[in-house]
Amino acid sequence: MTDLFDRLRRREYTGENRCWPCTITNSVLLAALVGTLSLLGRRTIARAVAVVGTAAIALRGYVVPYTPRFAPALVAALPIAPFDHGQPAAASGSLSDSSTTADTADGTTSAAEPTGEDVLRTLLEAGVLVPEGDDIRLADDVRDDWRREMQTLREAELATLAQVADSQTKSSVEARASRNWGRPVLVLEREGGAPVTLRRSVAVTELAAVCALESHVDAAPVRRAAGRPMRSLLEHCPLCDGPLTVTQSSCCGETTPAGQTPSEKLICPACDERFFTFDDAER
Ligand SMILES: [Zn+2]
Repeated sequence: MTDLFDRLRRREYTGENRCWPCTITNSVLLAALVGTLSLLGRRTIARAVAVVGTAAIALRGYVVPYTPRFAPALVAALPIAPFDHGQPAAASGSLSDSSTTADTADGTTSAAEPTGEDVLRTLLEAGVLVPEGDDIRLADDVRDDWRREMQTLREAELATLAQVADSQTKSSVEARASRNWGRPVLVLEREGGAPVTLRRSVAVTELAAVCALESHVDAAPVRRAAGRPMRSLLEHCPLCDGPLTVTQSSCCGETTPAGQTPSEKLICPACDERFFTFDDAER
C-alpha cells in the first residue's frame, strides 16, 4: 500500500513543495462540485468524488488539470495575505538585496554598495567572466566550483543554508529558515530595511555562487551582488542538474498582468523552478 502511495505521490507538488494556492483553489472547487452533486440528490457519486478528490489533492498536490498555471494568479487577485507566487517582492528576492538601502534608512549613506558596473568590472578583472565576442561567459573553473557548491548546498537543510547566509552577509543581517505558503524560504532580516525573502532554489544558487567566488574575488559585497547576474548564466538546474530552458510561457510562481506579455525566463521544466527573468529589472 505504501508502495502504491509512493508511486501515486508527486513530490514536486506535495510535502514541503506543496503549492498552497493550488491546494486551496482545488479544495474550493472540489467542495463546490461535491455540494452541487449532493443538492442534485447524487449522494453516492458526491461521496466518491469527495474521497477520490481529497486523496488526489493530498497525494498529487492538485486534481484540476493545469492548476499551477491559473491558481497562483487567481489567489493573487484575492484580498488575502500575499504568497510567494506572483508577488514580485517575495518571489524575486536575492542575496544582493540584503545589502542595499539598509544603510540609508537613517540618511547616513555609507558603505557604498557596488554598482552593476563595479560588479562586472571586478568579475572580468578576476577572470570569473570571460569576454567572448559580443558575449560574456563564465570561466570554466568557476562554473565547476559553482556547480560543486550547488550540489552540496541543495542537499542541506534550510537551517544550514541560513547559517551559510549568516556567514556571507553583513553582521546586521540575520538569516532564518521560514515557510511562505508552505514552501521553504530563507528570510534575511535586516536592521533598518525590509526583510528579504529568498526562494530555496535561489538561496542554493546564490549562496553557492558566493562560496565559489571566495577564492577569486576579495570584496564580499561584490561576491554577494554577483549571484543574481550569475543566475542568468546557469546551464544546468542547481537542484536536479537537468537542462534549463528559456521560455516565455507562464509557469507556477508567476502572474502576468492582463495585457502584458510574459517575460523570457530561464526555467527548469522538471522542477518547475524559475532561475532568472530576462528583460526585467531583476530577477
Ligand atoms: Zn531541476
